[in-house]
Amino acid sequence: MARNVLSALPRVRILATGGTIAGAQVKGERGYRAAAFSAETLIAAVPQLGELARLEVEQVAAIGSQDMDESTWRQLAVRTAAALADRTIAGVVITHGTDTMEETAFFLNLVVRSAKPIVLVGAMRPATAISADGPMNLYNAVAVAAHAEARGRGVLVVANDEIHFAREIAKTNTTQVGTFASGHRGLAGLVNAGRSHFYAAPVRRHTRASEFSRAKISALPRVDIVYAHAGMGRELIDAAVKAGACGLVLAGVGDGNLCALALAACAQAAQRGVAIVRSSRTGGGVVERNIEIDDDRHGFIVADELNPQKARVLLMLGLTRSRDPAVLQKLFFAY
Ligand code: GLU
Repeated sequence: MARNVLSALPRVRILATGGTIAGAQVKGERGYRAAAFSAETLIAAVPQLGELARLEVEQVAAIGSQDMDESTWRQLAVRTAAALADRTIAGVVITHGTDTMEETAFFLNLVVRSAKPIVLVGAMRPATAISADGPMNLYNAVAVAAHAEARGRGVLVVANDEIHFAREIAKTNTTQVGTFASGHRGLAGLVNAGRSHFYAAPVRRHTRASEFSRAKISALPRVDIVYAHAGMGRELIDAAVKAGACGLVLAGVGDGNLCALALAACAQAAQRGVAIVRSSRTGGGVVERNIEIDDDRHGFIVADELNPQKARVLLMLGLTRSRDPAVLQKLFFAY
């Protein structure tokens, strides 16, 4: 009887990458080390997980997410797809540092072809901290990954009792547990002690409807982000182009704006075939075409609602298909 109940539980695979959720404070030191514990140790610390799902673990990396890179992204995409191709697996949970979680989530949202739940989870406090947030976040993430209603919503992030869409989530605070926010579009839902409540569907294309999930992901072209500011020069833009960037994302001031010097450098880069995407450093709002900058004349692309780091992900993928600004612009209105 007990065995029947157990085998009726959904199967969820955990792909571990490190981060603070697996972090340990080192005695006598002020900070802590990310990725100190294995995924097995984290799971063993939350025995209640066994009531939600039959878990299996794969350690993909053991890094702080500041060291997340394209090759690990590709590996994660492959391992996630492989897990979800198994008909007996209901969903995947990816443990991840919070620093770059939004980029990994958005990347997977664009390249993994599955309707099954893919849930990223992290923690702001190390596993050894007073009132660590990792165990409840992990419990909630597994609950969401095992939930039938999480299907078809694209990649999700669970933290602090909230369920976020990959496209909308951003880390907004250096240390606080409530660091994640989903701006104008809001949450996918809430999850309270493993009880999930879904409220919304994603607004843009993702996973199965994404053209990037239909082919093998090749090596990604170099795309740099340049941060705008008062008194900005053109040197960093020129340096990025010289270093071989195929695309540049400008974290522009206000509505994706640039001073005259930076604008001239970007216009020249665009003429040489470098894709220029105007995003904003403000953390919210839409960057629209041709407001204060003549995007049509310069051949620029606007990021629409994507923040600079997510615009970079989409531009890298887009550049594997086309260097035409008109084609690339369409992607920013579609994803
Ligand atoms: N820098 C670490 C990381 O992103 C710590 C942040 C965290 O995980 O909360 O992995």
